[in-house]
Amino acid sequence: MLPFIRSDLAKFTAYKPHPGSDSKEPVAIQFDRLDTNESPYDLPYHLKEKLAVEYQQLIETNRYPDGGHEKLKNAIAEYVSQSAQLSPSLFTKDNISVGNGSDELIRSILIATCLGGEGSILVAQPTFSMYAILAQTLGIPVVTVGRNQDNFEIDLKAAQLAIENTQNPPIRTVFVVHPNSPTANALTAAELAWLRSLSENILVVIDEAYFEFSQNSLVGELPHHPNWIVLRTFSKAFRLAAHRLGYALAHVELIAILEKVRLPYNLPSFSIAAGLIALENRELLDSISETLNERAKLFEALSQNPALQVWNSAANFIFLRPKPENSDLKEFYLKNLTEKLRSSGTLVREINGGLRITIGTPKENIRTLNRLQTVLANLQ
Ligand SMILES: *Cc1c(COP(=O)(O)O)cnc(C)c1O
Repeated sequence: MLPFIRSDLAKFTAYKPHPGSDSKEPVAIQFDRLDTNESPYDLPYHLKEKLAVEYQQLIETNRYPDGGHEKLKNAIAEYVSQSAQLSPSLFTKDNISVGNGSDELIRSILIATCLGGEGSILVAQPTFSMYAILAQTLGIPVVTVGRNQDNFEIDLKAAQLAIENTQNPPIRTVFVVHPNSPTANALTAAELAWLRSLSENILVVIDEAYFEFSQNSLVGELPHHPNWIVLRTFSKAFRLAAHRLGYALAHVELIAILEKVRLPYNLPSFSIAAGLIALENRELLDSISETLNERAKLFEALSQNPALQVWNSAANFIFLRPKPENSDLKEFYLKNLTEKLRSSGTLVREINGGLRITIGTPKENIRTLNRLQTVLANLQ
């Protein structure tokens, strides 16, 4: 350990974002990359061309990007209201902050609420790993509660107790995903009632990364909750994971703080241009209906397999666990399953005693089903 590095960082390992790409396999294997919940579809060629023209004619590479993001924020405000059938005047650019992926916004939120020993965060495991990872790198304590193992609802009793009993520092920020990853369940009425009941001293972060698939959003409630913030991303349904674009929606005062915390030119000009093109060409989202049909077909087929427990999904992925629940063998079995799927060409995410499988193209999904059934039959 380098002597000038913070001692608490010594125990962390770096986030390994794409287990698929550090491949030891021969390059000849074309993986079905169903481990990171991206869209299976690239930006269409004519939109890439448009972006290329913009790059050639409008972007001056010697100039800093538009650091105020005004045009992008206006376009996002319009999209958010339109897609939730809300009044177009409900959100303006002052309700929005944009980040280099929603990951950057998560870090800004942590800096703005908990840094310097002022707060802890609360998460219900399993959930998106970046909240805890980013908190730890900032020295922010992470309080964890569990979920009901049948429907993955947050253990609300434990969550409430944690809020009441955590001191030095108290819980300042609660992170929820709607619908959750890796378990794909939307917030339930009980969870919503609990979030609504929380004191305004606590910030509630509602991560809607999969909103376009669930069509279920809490943005309409934002005006009533100065202590709520909704996160969204262009990395999933909008097919722009390569461009690193996320946004936050909240009351003006909270957004102004996030704007203070962020780096001045956090988004490259090229990414801003890509975001604008995506918002101007929302037919991009037409592929969602295919994804939802495919999800229904895959769910149906996987549910027929007696060796699997499969959960309903409100997102573009499916969570499942192999049966039986032989606890000694389970981890080994799961590892084996993931490895065998990988060597047959399908990458999935092994997490929380199960597999999270992204819905891909129809061809990929057929291969997922066939490979999973073959591997399971051989493991029995
Ligand atoms: C994929 C995902 C994101 C997106 O993060 P970006 O940094 O915008 O790519 C955020 N939250 C959750 C829960 C996700 O699954």
